[in-house]
Amino acid sequence: MSKTGIIGGTFNPIHNGHILLALYCKEKLNLDSVIFIPTYTPPHKSDKELVSEIHRLNMCNIAVQRYDDFSVSDIEIKRKGKSYTYETLTGLKEIYPDDTFYFITGADMFLTLEKWKNPEIIFEKAIIAAVPRNSSDSEVLSSHYQTILKPMGAKVSILDEPVLSVSSTFIRENIDNYDLIKSLIDRNVYEYIVKNNLYRE
Ligand code: NAP
Repeated sequence: MSKTGIIGGTFNPIHNGHILLALYCKEKLNLDSVIFIPTYTPPHKSDKELVSEIHRLNMCNIAVQRYDDFSVSDIEIKRKGKSYTYETLTGLKEIYPDDTFYFITGADMFLTLEKWKNPEIIFEKAIIAAVPRNSSDSEVLSSHYQTILKPMGAKVSILDEPVLSVSSTFIRENIDNYDLIKSLIDRNVYEYIVKNNLYRE
């Protein structure tokens, strides 16, 4: 019986904040592995700058290459349509029936969980691991859990330390300034972006 972390996202592009989030959760929750799942169409936002799912999948694969316990799933990309998390967790449970899933989420998404489609199915299939972005987030996350998510039956683990703040938007806006963003993104992912001429008007 394995403990498996799941991180969903647009990953547009994947950056070191996402990798650190996974490493941090793996360590704190004693996970055996972490699966990154790039969305096909995110249910909650329309991003004009969203590059194709194939590029986002390729960049995820490049970024996890050096981490033995990290992998990338194309389950949402193959399914197409809106990438609802309850459907993804249902599909993963069929593939890995004995695993315990930890759905890893940052603060912003955690605070909207009860509005996602079929949240009760999400809570039945996974423990939610919430990671604050800064120290003031922690109290807000705890209160949201106690008042909203706990009564809905969610099992939640709120981790208490923030990870490095990195934003995909900042990376996209400064894509021509490698010196500025080099500590935020894997060098091979950066080279993939340049080679494929991504994030340029
Ligand atoms: P994203 O922007 O690519 O981010 C992925 C995750 O990484 C988020 O939880 C985000 O936290 C976190 N993150 C990003 N940068 C970080 C940093 N520097 N440090 C720490 N954490 C960082 O993806 P997203 O658009 O938020 O979507 C997340 C997942 O939720 C996706 O799988 C999406 O399909 C799912 N979702 C499902 C539904 C539904 O089923 N109805 C609705 C909404 C979202 P923050 O939340 O703090 O940004």
